[in-house]
Amino acid sequence: MTSLTASHAADLVAALLFILSLAGLSQHHTSRAGVVYGIAGMVLALAATVVLAAQSISAGAVTLIVAAMALGAAIGLWRARRVEMTQMPELIAVLHSFVGLAAVLVGWNSYLQVEAHGDAQTHVADDLLGIHHAEVFIGIFIGAVTFTGSIVAFLKLSARIKSRPLMLPGKNALNIGALVVFVALTVWFTVSPGLPLMIAVTALALALGWHLVASIGGGDMPVVVSMLNSYSGWAAAAAGFLLDNNLLIVTGALVGSSGAYLSYIMCKAMNRSFLSVIAGGFGIEAPSGGGEEQGEHREVRAADAAELLAQARSVIITPGYGMAVAQAQHPVAELTRRLRERGVEVRFGVHPVAGRLPGHMNVLLAEAKVPYDIVLEMDEINDDFAETSVVLVIGANDTVNPAATEDPSSPIAGMPVLRVWEAEHVIVFKRSMASGYAGVQNPLFFRENTSMLFGDAKRSVDDILDALGTSSGGGPDPSTRRATVAGR
Ligand code: NDP
Repeated sequence: MTSLTASHAADLVAALLFILSLAGLSQHHTSRAGVVYGIAGMVLALAATVVLAAQSISAGAVTLIVAAMALGAAIGLWRARRVEMTQMPELIAVLHSFVGLAAVLVGWNSYLQVEAHGDAQTHVADDLLGIHHAEVFIGIFIGAVTFTGSIVAFLKLSARIKSRPLMLPGKNALNIGALVVFVALTVWFTVSPGLPLMIAVTALALALGWHLVASIGGGDMPVVVSMLNSYSGWAAAAAGFLLDNNLLIVTGALVGSSGAYLSYIMCKAMNRSFLSVIAGGFGIEAPSGGGEEQGEHREVRAADAAELLAQARSVIITPGYGMAVAQAQHPVAELTRRLRERGVEVRFGVHPVAGRLPGHMNVLLAEAKVPYDIVLEMDEINDDFAETSVVLVIGANDTVNPAATEDPSSPIAGMPVLRVWEAEHVIVFKRSMASGYAGVQNPLFFRENTSMLFGDAKRSVDDILDALGTSSGGGPDPSTRRATVAGR
């Protein structure tokens, strides 16, 4: 077998491993195997690429490629070990920006090579030059949109810039105009390629990527992250065409289509129009503000919350981003165990976008060994709140905000939420009256049946566990210290 055939065979096996990896990652119990398939596929793909490259380039160049791979792997391992679970979406956004940048550089390199050597030292035949030019243009366009879009997503997710949508006048016309200009430039470039057109399309796409993601509000960021994932896949596929690398085309298409499907699922879960989000909030009007409402809230102490729980028939816990920040999943699991021992029915209600990445809460609860069968999706549990004695909202905010269903002017209007307020008692664990990720005030905090348990969520749950240990089992007596607070 020649090394070329071996390399093609390795590409095929790697592509199959990537498909198995995606299939494995779709279920809890097969996800570890999915990760292993993915790693194996990537190692094989990299080895095959180096072996193939060694046929046509000097030993020095191969050494450089291997050194670059080793350096990249070392940086990747170092970052992966240090990154907090809550920072994962930011890290993913940065990684998407690298894919976008790589696609832009591959496009430029491909153009410059053809410019310098014509078809003599490239794989491009004369009669295919027009198609090649279109590939270069499309690759650069998708790559540059992904690059700047991912940078804005990173800045928003890491709170370096505000998550509120940018509302430039005529923003929809700007986006559509940019697409029309891109199509016109592509036709022009295919007929008569030139450096000024390359510069123009790169600048146009960089600006469009920035504007598309800047126009999307905080509550829609989960969709943006999966959408950029999809764009990065298509950017990689475009680079694959330019590099004549079949594996890159297949892998890019897998990432592109699975990312698009995930975006679609998330749009459905959040009751958002898929087209509207991928077009940068197309058709969404400027929000009428976060509702700097004032009202009265009541506070409860951990000991009183413990009394209430000890008397409860049924409890639903709705975790959110704050549980991840506080790393409260272990005491929450212990609380669940203790209450179930006392005969209280305890279940979890998980919102599809709770936390900062899809499946965030499920991962934390699984890590703390909460049984899967009591962890329910929003749709499975939403009708049961009305029959529930106590709901513990642990570090969740936007995902339990009644304004989404009751206030059409709210920036999160229409997003399905967990209807926790229908329960007999609601206890909200958070540190202050601050708003959630979408920057919207939460009327839940001011309802008659809601009590706020202020403080770090882990500490509060630990305090409840202590109190439960010595609980007399007497009747509920939540402290109802009233206070008037500013909305945020
Ligand atoms: P939110 O981000 O809306 O709110 C989290 C709350 O946790 C805050 O109000 C904060 O209040 C509280 N909190 C933070 N730290 C602690 C702590 N140590 N102890 C106790 N409370 C704490 O959370 P949700 O999970 O309800 O909603 C997720 C939001 O993130 C949605 O808007 C979603 O669209 C967005 N998003 C989701 C992504 C995903 O893929 N899941 C990706 C990107 C964005 P305080 O500061 O007062 O303590």
